Amino acid sequence: MLNGERKIARPLRWAMVGGGRLSQVGYKHRCGALRDNTAFQLVAGAFDLDPERGRDFGVNIGVDPSRCYPNYQTMFREEARREDGIEVVSIATPNATHFEIAWAALNAGLDVICEKPLFFTSDEVRKVKALAEEKGLIVGVTYGFSGHPLLMQMRAMIAHGEIGDVRIVDLQYTHGFNATDAVDKVSDAQKWRVDPKIAGPTFVLGDISTHTYYISQLVMPHMKIRELLCDRQSFIPSRAPLEDNAFVLMHYENGAVGRLWASSVNAGCMDSQRIRIVGSKASLVWSDSNPSELRYEVQGQPNQTLYRGMPYLDPSANAIERLGALHTEGLTESWANIYLKFAIAIDAKRRGDEKTLAELVYPDIEAGLEGVRWLENCVKSASNGSIWVPFE
Ligand code: NAD
Repeated sequence: MLNGERKIARPLRWAMVGGGRLSQVGYKHRCGALRDNTAFQLVAGAFDLDPERGRDFGVNIGVDPSRCYPNYQTMFREEARREDGIEVVSIATPNATHFEIAWAALNAGLDVICEKPLFFTSDEVRKVKALAEEKGLIVGVTYGFSGHPLLMQMRAMIAHGEIGDVRIVDLQYTHGFNATDAVDKVSDAQKWRVDPKIAGPTFVLGDISTHTYYISQLVMPHMKIRELLCDRQSFIPSRAPLEDNAFVLMHYENGAVGRLWASSVNAGCMDSQRIRIVGSKASLVWSDSNPSELRYEVQGQPNQTLYRGMPYLDPSANAIERLGALHTEGLTESWANIYLKFAIAIDAKRRGDEKTLAELVYPDIEAGLEGVRWLENCVKSASNGSIWVPFE
């Protein structure tokens, strides 16, 4: 169980690019990173495209005014001159900017924590991976839902054969917030999401399905996709060519099959993510709208509900438990678990502790690469008339 005590020698000096006053995701980063004040300390930021608003925001969340910078270039340059300069930076800006900021950060000697989808192309990810390796730095990806303890329980149960051989993978991340085009007209955060120059080659696939795809890899790391077929639609025509709805069918190397539904036009839906893994003996079902419960359905037996924080769970699940059974945990704790693992990874890398790095399960640059490959293959299939394409 976690209680906030130090896991690394001292907190890392941390900065953010983006994530300012009007940002949707910035506070989630701070909730995660600052939950354990033994992991990160927020000491600087270039929080906003608007320098004045960014500075005002930074001051209001307690950052030294002299370290609230007008842009990331100035921040990286000025902080490098300080003895107590930043060591790690989180990138919480729109998708099109991730690559250039991550590249600059690594070249400035900073570890990087970056939003998804990591970059536009897998070639970009491979370039950044090579640079990070050359510099001895970590790149983490904020798949923020993946820190829920019961996902580690799913992983352990599947690995221990408790559902038998995986046959069917059923994934869903849908909502209805974009059922009309009203939000496209008023929200800056939504406007860029349907602009390919800023969002990249996808809307809902990149925006939400990357989370669910990563969770599927987290809980069943042995399952590799052999080929997939993607059918995508723009129900609001102004969003074309970017999709507001997509169905993906998957064939896995072991003969299993899967489907993923990603949608922002599932009117009235408030379920968010739902994952069902069907094995030859039993199924596991988890949803992030009720993350404290995991359904274990054994064929021919009464269904069971496993609860978060209970002693019967696998040690890997309880190792990231914070509040204890019955006491509600949610997305904030999930983000805190992910951020703590980023801190542990960065610390281990610096100490040359390859054993810790090899054993740590967290969304690293490989996970970011997989997410981008997933998107590339989905787009390739959809653009060619929704045909099966080998997963390259
Ligand atoms: P947003 O439009 O709400 O906010 C973007 C913020 O970045 C704004 O404050 C803007 O001023 C700032 N910004 C833009 N360019 C900048 C630059 N060059 N320097 C400094 N600041 C800059 O966007 P959002 O919804 O917060 O999404 C940001 C990123 O986070 C996207 O990549 C998105 O896919 C991702 N996201 C992830 C999750 C998650 O759960 N992990 C949730 C939402 C968004």
